[in-house]
Amino acid sequence: MNNNCIFCKIIGNEISSFTLYEDDDFKVIMDISPAAKGHAVLMPKKHIANVFEVEEEVASKAFGVAVKVAKAMKEELKCDGLNILQNSGEAAGQTVFHFHIHLIPRFKNDSVQITWACKSYGEGEAESIAAAIRKRLAKFLLP
Ligand code: AMP
Ligand code: ZN
Repeated sequence: MNNNCIFCKIIGNEISSFTLYEDDDFKVIMDISPAAKGHAVLMPKKHIANVFEVEEEVASKAFGVAVKVAKAMKEELKCDGLNILQNSGEAAGQTVFHFHIHLIPRFKNDSVQITWACKSYGEGEAESIAAAIRKRLAKFLLP
C-alpha cells in the first residue's frame, strides 16, 4: 500500500469505484475518464509502479485476467475490437504510477485515437538496435 497512490486507495476501498472483477491479487474497475464506454483498468493489488518493476508471475496472471475480461466485454458490449494498453513512465503517458492495464472496447468507425506517426530506420539501424537489445535481453532470460 502506497499512501499517495489513488489505485491503492481504490483497492483499500478508501475511494469508490465500479468493480468488474476482484480476487486476492487483482482488481478491475471502470476507468473514471473512459476512452470508450466500458473502458476498464486492471491492477495488481500489490503496489508496483510500472512494467520495469512488475514480477513476471504477476504480469502473466494479470494478462490471464485481461483475456477473461476482454471476452466478457466482447460478449456483453458486442464490441468489434479491443485495445489492451499499458503505459509505463511519464514519457509513455502514465499518470497513475501503480501498474495497470487498460482494456478499451473498440467499435468500427469509433472516434477513439490510439495512434502514432510512423517513423523509419536508416540503413542498418534496425539491425543494430535489434542486436543491442538482444544482447541486453540475454541477462533477463537467465533461469
Ligand atoms: P495512465 O495514464 O495509463 O496512467 O492511466 C490512468 C488511468 O486511470 C486514466 O485512464 C484515468 O482516467 C484513470 N483513473 C484515474 N483516477 C481514477 C479513479 N479514481 N477511478 C477510476 N479510474 C481512474
Ligand atoms: Zn498503488
